[in-house]
Amino acid sequence: MKVFKFGGASVKSAEAFRNIAHIVKTCGGDRELLLVVSAMGKTTNALEQIFDLAYSGQSFETAFQQCLSYHQEITNELFRDKTAPVHERLEHLFAQLRQTLERIPSGATYDKYYDQVVSYGELFSSTILHHFLQEQGLSNTWIDSRKYIQTDNTWREGKVDWNWTERTIKRDLTSLLQEQLVVTQGFLGGTNNGFTTTLGREGSDFSAAIFAYSLDAEAMYIWKDVEGLLNADPKYFEDTVRYPEISYQETVEMAYYGASVIHPKTIKPLANKLIPLYVKSFLNPAAAGTKICDCRFEVIAPAYIIKENQCLISFSVKDFTFISEKNLGTIFNALSEMRLKINMMQNSAISFSICTDYFPERLERLIQTLQDQFEIHYNTNLRLYTIKNYDSQSISKVTTGKSILLEQRTRTTFQAVCR
Ligand code: ASP
Ligand code: MG
Repeated sequence: MKVFKFGGASVKSAEAFRNIAHIVKTCGGDRELLLVVSAMGKTTNALEQIFDLAYSGQSFETAFQQCLSYHQEITNELFRDKTAPVHERLEHLFAQLRQTLERIPSGATYDKYYDQVVSYGELFSSTILHHFLQEQGLSNTWIDSRKYIQTDNTWREGKVDWNWTERTIKRDLTSLLQEQLVVTQGFLGGTNNGFTTTLGREGSDFSAAIFAYSLDAEAMYIWKDVEGLLNADPKYFEDTVRYPEISYQETVEMAYYGASVIHPKTIKPLANKLIPLYVKSFLNPAAAGTKICDCRFEVIAPAYIIKENQCLISFSVKDFTFISEKNLGTIFNALSEMRLKINMMQNSAISFSICTDYFPERLERLIQTLQDQFEIHYNTNLRLYTIKNYDSQSISKVTTGKSILLEQRTRTTFQAVCR
């Protein structure tokens, strides 16, 4: 049994959907196959914007229409028959989304309603994929992943109830998969009282790993627009190299530092059951890609990782005394409460600095909570560069010409926050 995960780029156009059918036919073999799909193209970003507008009481009509047209155009191209059931299904989902947007209560918890709205991207894409594969003769069942992946109500980063989830997936999907393909959504979970949660941006990889783990899959595949796991993002760097084979450990660390190729939580469930993960190109499915498994390689090329949209926050004690362990405790507690994760930190005589992803609303609450005790300053719009297995050449490659606000190195890893 295998799990295939298709990301946003692999469902961004009608052409891309056709390519999935091709991959399933040529690479799926006669195996049991579960397909996990992300929202189409940049839909999740679009839904975030639509949600922001609705949440702040502004009109979301234009953005909503754009998102609707994008989905309709692709559906119309894939299904010429105007009476095909997919059109009505899609219309129904968009009507539900509109209703959700119109009914956000005033004073609603931002993150909770974010999940109820932004989750529609995957419902749209998986619905279209289900109908399209069906039409292509690839008989499949659409399942609602919110009924299989159960989480607590940590909105936007649902914590998985592994026992419940594994049991339910095994019980309900094992025999179904012997009969036909199963199509489901990435990124989504559900609470035990019927609310939708999401698993964190780019969380579809993690969803696929949850299914692979629960079904004891023989392998999981992530189909991407790059040829495998590369030592840098080709968006930022030329001369990237592909790792043909790499260990779980090395991959986890790269993901932790922000390598966008795989969601950080993906590896652990796979490693626990020694399920190999293949990263392959959907543009060239026959090419080798990368195999991530329980292996050890000594020397590997430096990996360059960039985290965008970083925020550097510094705290100092108002009376110019030193930052004490007690002060640090207060700061850490507040960060944990606001769910701001530390990507890098440094302590000096009178100030403590941290680099986090920039969440304006969480930062605002953090400042409100701590402003009586600390003088707080922050910079936004920064980038965090990490180089694993660095050397002096690789450091100058990333830092030349930039202004460095914070820098740190260990024996294997170099990091710098730059403007
Ligand atoms: N659609 C979600 C996102 O863009 C999840 C994913 O793509 O993995 O973050
Ligand atoms: Mg995506």
